[in-house]
Amino acid sequence: MEHLSKRLSLVAEKIPPGSRLLDVGSDHAYLPIYLASQGLIDRAVAGEVVKGPYESACRNVAAHGLQQVISVRLANGLAAMQAEDGITAVSICGMGGRLIADILGAGQAQLATVKTLVLQPNNREDELRQWLVAHQFAIVAETILMENDKYYEIIVAQPGHQMLDAKAYRFGPFLSQAKTAVFKAKWHREYVKLAEALACVPHARTKDRAAITQKMAAIKEMIEDEGK
Ligand code: SAM
Repeated sequence: MEHLSKRLSLVAEKIPPGSRLLDVGSDHAYLPIYLASQGLIDRAVAGEVVKGPYESACRNVAAHGLQQVISVRLANGLAAMQAEDGITAVSICGMGGRLIADILGAGQAQLATVKTLVLQPNNREDELRQWLVAHQFAIVAETILMENDKYYEIIVAQPGHQMLDAKAYRFGPFLSQAKTAVFKAKWHREYVKLAEALACVPHARTKDRAAITQKMAAIKEMIEDEGK
């Protein structure tokens, strides 16, 4: 499908085959359209809270002749889901990590039948991981990618218990183990930003400087090659 970005292609790979998917914030409905037209999902609901993107999702689904497989609904978050949909997987992509956590938190009752969450926060990944673990979701896979000079993380979670330390919340339990070149590049960029910020903080502000220095040290330890 011509519109599927690298980011959404990698999200699509994480949706379990045969899922009944709810895609929250479906905008143009690119993700469910791709999955349905490839026969990779059973059916889908494309939920969108804003009228313009909702109408665009409706148009795209109709243009692909997929109205029998994808229901487009104007709804806030998990309210797009109805019991009879039998939703097994939920994707929420392209929003801030805090907003994704708020959407999940506001619709916790609807999550009872959901087996897989595929989440792609644009920021505050640590806060989203904390929400998941605090609400009995275990992180089972993670991916990191770069597209158009931006880094994106994809987090897959399933119902379950998990214990993570501060480092795993910040860097990701799987990403921090894999330490791919993209992961190192993301955190190197973050390190440089912090160093620039530190240079602007007056020496008298010792607490602020210490907080930044601490963050930089944690990044350095994470991305430095072993043995150096
Ligand atoms: N998910 C697509 C993607 O990753 O390319 C679209 C991302 S777009 C930046 C975010 C979309 O989420 C917008 O269309 C916005 O209207 C929608 N959105 C934000 N909050 C929402 C909510 N609570 N419920 C449903 N949709 C929401």
